[in-house]
Amino acid sequence: MFNTSNYHQILKELAPQQAALVAVSKLKSVEDILSAYQEGLRDFGENYVQELCSKQPELPHDIRWHFIGHLQSNKVKYIAPFVHLIQGVDSIKLLKEINKQAARNHRIIKCLLQVHIATEETKFGFNEEEILQINPSLYPHLDICGVMGMASFSNDTTLVKNEFINLKSIYDRLKITHQGISILSMGMSGDYKIALSVGSNMLRIGSLIFGTR
Ligand SMILES: *Cc1c(COP(=O)(O)O)cnc(C)c1O
Repeated sequence: MFNTSNYHQILKELAPQQAALVAVSKLKSVEDILSAYQEGLRDFGENYVQELCSKQPELPHDIRWHFIGHLQSNKVKYIAPFVHLIQGVDSIKLLKEINKQAARNHRIIKCLLQVHIATEETKFGFNEEEILQINPSLYPHLDICGVMGMASFSNDTTLVKNEFINLKSIYDRLKITHQGISILSMGMSGDYKIALSVGSNMLRIGSLIFGTR
């Protein structure tokens, strides 16, 4: 169920730095999403292609759908007609495929590059060198507009903070070399306060506003 008071609390916290909130609605019902929509939310994040494609036609068309997880190249075609922002582009192969499907749909698709910041082995993403070498002119149907990262799943707040600081500095450097970089997507239910303190301007929050999955 949508938790209105947690939602308003988070809005207060992110207002001073004008950060955006993406409500992560994976595994949540169309009804829950509608409740959030009625409170004014327009940005929703999903990370299963099939689930996203079945919800999208049932919900208002002014919703901006964010794809937030690991995306397989062979599934890009299903979301390319409507997706607002693909967060977590983690390979050149995927960049090429999104560019191709965007062209087919006569669209420019907005993308964030996922940076591997966690010390854990399992997280997807580019490292800093790879990110700086990406040449946006090779992907005319993409609008590469920022970076996204996930910190280690850990209670060690110093570790998490340092990982976010690392992502912020990569973002700052990318802004110098690449045009149109404006989104720094970091922070989830468990670590969004740390992310905000380090300069995040887009939070992806699920369980805190929709309850546990
Ligand atoms: C599920 C998910 C979130 C939200 O997680 P919560 O802990 O529920 O806030 C954020 N980002 C990504 C990439 C996710 O997969």
